Amino acid sequence: MRVTLAVLLLSVSFSLQAQYQKKVKPVELSELTDEIQRSGGNPDSISLSLWLPIEFWESVIGQNPDIDQAAANELLGKLEQYDMFAVLKGSVGANGTPTYLNEETIFKKTYLILPGGNKHKPIEESKLSAEVVEIISVMKPILSNMLGNLGESMTFLIFESHQNNKRLADPYQDGSLKMIVSGEKFEWRLPLNSLLEEKHCPIDKETLKGSWKFCPHHGAKL
Ligand SMILES: [Zn+2]
Repeated sequence: MRVTLAVLLLSVSFSLQAQYQKKVKPVELSELTDEIQRSGGNPDSISLSLWLPIEFWESVIGQNPDIDQAAANELLGKLEQYDMFAVLKGSVGANGTPTYLNEETIFKKTYLILPGGNKHKPIEESKLSAEVVEIISVMKPILSNMLGNLGESMTFLIFESHQNNKRLADPYQDGSLKMIVSGEKFEWRLPLNSLLEEKHCPIDKETLKGSWKFCPHHGAKL
C-alpha cells in the first residue's frame, strides 16, 4: 500500500499541468490553485491557507494517464470524505526572521465557519484512519516542494467534508467559507469560478465569470 500510494502521489507532482475533464467543464488547475489559496493581509505576518477540496485532487490525479484509474478512483473515494487545508501562520521578528506557529497551536486555534454559519473543528490526528495519516505523510513533502521554503512550515488540517451525507463546504454553491487561524480570517467566496462554465453577456457576448449573476457593464441578467 505504502509504495503504491507514494508512486501514485509522486506522479501527481509531475502532472500539475494536466487538465481534468470535469462533468461541468475542464478545470484549469492554475486557476483553481489561485482560487483555493488565501494569504493574510497583515504586513507583519506571513500567513497562508490552502484549501484542498476533492475537486483539487480530481483535477490533479483524476485523468492523469500515467496513473492507474482503479487506484486513482480508490484514492479519490477516500479523499472525498475530507476537506484538507495546508495552513501557515508566522510573524516576522525585528531581525526579519519569521517565526511560525507550531502544529499543535495551529490545530487548537483553527476552525472553519461553514457557509451555513456553523463552526467546524479539524479532526484530531489520533482519530484519523491510518490510511489518511499515510496520505498526508506522502503529500506533505510534495506540497512542501511546490511551495518552497514555506512548505516546510505548513500544518495539515483535516476536516470531515460531509455530515448526514450533505457536503459542508460545497464549492459549487453560493456562499462563503471562512477559516479562522489564531484570530486571523481567511475567506473563500463560493462558488469557485474555476469550476464553473464561463458566462457570456447577452449584449456584447463578453466572457464573464461563471458565478456572476449580472453583467457588470450592462447590468444584463446572465
Ligand atoms: Zn455586458
